[in-house]
Amino acid sequence: NLKMIYYVTPTYPRPEQAPELTRLAHTLMHVPRLHWIIADDQPICSELVLNILRRTNLPFTHISSPKPFIYKGTNFPRGVSNRRAALTWLQENVGEGILYFGDDDNTVDLQLFEEIRNTKKVSMFPVGLIGGYGISSPVVKNGKVAGFFDSWPGSRTFPVDMAGFAVNIEFLKPTATMPYIAGHEEDKFLVSLGLQMEDIEPLADNCTKILVWHTKTVKYKKPTVKINLKQLGELPK
Ligand code: UDP
Ligand code: MN
Repeated sequence: NLKMIYYVTPTYPRPEQAPELTRLAHTLMHVPRLHWIIADDQPICSELVLNILRRTNLPFTHISSPKPFIYKGTNFPRGVSNRRAALTWLQENVGEGILYFGDDDNTVDLQLFEEIRNTKKVSMFPVGLIGGYGISSPVVKNGKVAGFFDSWPGSRTFPVDMAGFAVNIEFLKPTATMPYIAGHEEDKFLVSLGLQMEDIEPLADNCTKILVWHTKTVKYKKPTVKINLKQLGELPK
């Protein structure tokens, strides 16, 4: 009897959204007992996202919660309002299972799902392609997490990436929340759970294997010529 994995993906509209979500969908479709929660950074749930979700045949929840309008520019906390909405939905509707925050642009090895499924409280593992070290990872000594290897400690208690941990939903306190503080979303969330170092379960062979990467897609530059897709059959002229 496998525990359900609740895979929480914040997303927002841009030219790369459909390809990112399509690629992620095709990974998640290989995973048994997975419930995909897509949290839309939109006033209402987008048709494009819903159509991708429907075609996966996965159990899913599609919710929308746009960022407060004050957050624009470059260094704003990304995906917080929508992740918070997913968190509230889980707290109100789900009593057991595993929570994982999986962004729409990351790359996940299917082995990760087998590893996180038995999380008792909070499990942690390395994430590739992070910061100046190219990796963010807990450091394991004698089977326990003894510290963290991350190029930006930032006076954080748990300097880890959003993709570097999973949480047993029974360990989610009513106080669990994510702050609107860029760079501190993960740490403050884990602190809000009352997490202690000794509670952390290291996965991925004592944090020696990379099973998830913080990939980023190059931003698409707007086309310089307007093409009407209805005319594609007549192209090129
Ligand atoms: N995101 C969002 N709203 C935004 C910007 C980002 O919901 O305005 C989502 C995005 O789709 C992704 C996550 O938040 O799932 C992290 O954003 P991004 O990948 O842009 O940040 P980075 O990986 O560069 O930290
Ligand atoms: Mn990203």
